[in-house]
Amino acid sequence: MHAKDEARTEGSPEIVVVGAGLVGAVAAVYLAPRFGPVTILEKRADPRRGAGGQGRSLTVMLSARGWRVLSDLGLAEAVREICVPLHGRCAHLPDGSSHVTPYSRDGQPIWSVERERLHHILLDAAEATVGVRLRFGQRVHSVDLDEPAVLVEDRHGRQRLTCRRVLGCDGAHSAARAALAARGAQAEVRNLELAYQEIDVPGGWLDRRTMHYWPTGDALFAAFPMPSGEFSGSLFMRREGPAPSYATVEGQDLLKVFAAGFPEPTAAIPDLAEQLATRSVSSLMVVRCDRWVWRDTFALLGDSCHAMAPFMGHGMNCGFEDARTLIACLDSTEDWTAALAAYEKSRTEDADAISYLSYQHYYIMANPPQEETAHAKGVLRKRLVDLFPDRFVPLYEQCAFTEESYASVLRNDQRLDRLVESLLGRYGAELVTASDSRLRACTPPLTPNTVTLEDSGCS
Ligand SMILES: Cc1cc2nc3c(=O)[nH]c(=O)nc-3n(C[C@H](O)[C@H](O)[C@H](O)COP(=O)(O)OP(=O)(O)OC[C@H]3O[C@@H](n4cnc5c(N)ncnc54)[C@H](O)[C@@H]3O)c2cc1C
Repeated sequence: MHAKDEARTEGSPEIVVVGAGLVGAVAAVYLAPRFGPVTILEKRADPRRGAGGQGRSLTVMLSARGWRVLSDLGLAEAVREICVPLHGRCAHLPDGSSHVTPYSRDGQPIWSVERERLHHILLDAAEATVGVRLRFGQRVHSVDLDEPAVLVEDRHGRQRLTCRRVLGCDGAHSAARAALAARGAQAEVRNLELAYQEIDVPGGWLDRRTMHYWPTGDALFAAFPMPSGEFSGSLFMRREGPAPSYATVEGQDLLKVFAAGFPEPTAAIPDLAEQLATRSVSSLMVVRCDRWVWRDTFALLGDSCHAMAPFMGHGMNCGFEDARTLIACLDSTEDWTAALAAYEKSRTEDADAISYLSYQHYYIMANPPQEETAHAKGVLRKRLVDLFPDRFVPLYEQCAFTEESYASVLRNDQRLDRLVESLLGRYGAELVTASDSRLRACTPPLTPNTVTLEDSGCS
């Protein structure tokens, strides 16, 4: 037995998971059957006993990566029952028109699920997994990477709990991450310039097969259908800076700004004034960390290492994928040091990519779409994607319906950008409106990795 193991307290868990959020629960269900007793330490009270409400979106979108994990854990069927399928996003434009963009070219939906009910299913699954112990009201103060151990506080006081490994799944404000930072990891933790308020939206006036959004350029209102028939809405605006921003408009002014930008929702939400005046304004945190693991004892997963803007709907899906990747790395070798290093290597670039894409997506959504597509680059891009469906998969579709690494999705997208730029450079803007046959002839017989205009048979 290793000296480190002798020092462990009698009956101490093999693995401590810090945080019983969506990702912590999933990680524990994966880990316990393979590696022995797992204790989850959660600072809050059990949300299943009526202690919910973390002040975040009521709904979250599940895509293929999330479903893959739920299937692995035998939970897909239970979750599917509480989901609403969404086939696209419907933009309600300032000129009164609306425009639906399907999420996929073959009609596949993504799925809107109530965060709280999903969380309950995951906690129930963790509790039902042999070897998992859930402990609520346990705030972890610090992690000792060497022993390893966690310093945890509950209503009886502080206690040091030794174990063999620690997984930090404690979200954007992670206490576990501080242990890595103390060993030189560079962590960037910041608020985005945007903030949001949750607004309940009655049903009955919006198509439930899509999410809906109202872009004004300065602000965005989005509404997602819930199984209850109502919609969960979010008003996104700058936190500070020139009006309209949460710092500059409040009270009646906020109602006026909302009514001016979003007349349809204003007419449909009877208690809008009260909701705007009383609902808290939440910040959006972004976390980037250059190290996720420590030797064979410690790893970060989920928002603790990659909290991101919510506009692609991938924070949780990416966190679930972290857990699945970690397990795949651990299944492939008994050497935890090698497995954790492989996990970190495989995830950091992906997390950076989806985080970048998620932030960019706000500006795509917040600006009325015709402004974007009126641009030659945007139109040509779309035409290429439509003309060569086997070669180019729309970015959103790659993220939502495939398990292709996010980093490779981003690289594919940048390649398409470069192709569009070189085509415009060589043939000019007339190519945007050229016939399909001319556009085909001008486009080189590229594989996704090779874009050389010299190959094209067009002049
Ligand atoms: C507005 C909004 C919309 C979103 N929409 C989507 C979406 O559509 N699809 C999607 O995939 N993602 C979405 N996300 C992102 C998603 O919510 C997060 O990525 C996900 O919740 C991260 O899960 P987590 O378990 O890593 O962290 P968290 O959910 O933050 O859970 C961390 C847990 O750790 C606990 N904890 C914290 N500190 C300690 C401590 N010191 N000791 C013990 N316990 C501790 C917390 O109480 C919490 O329970 C959205 C986020 C926002 C803000």
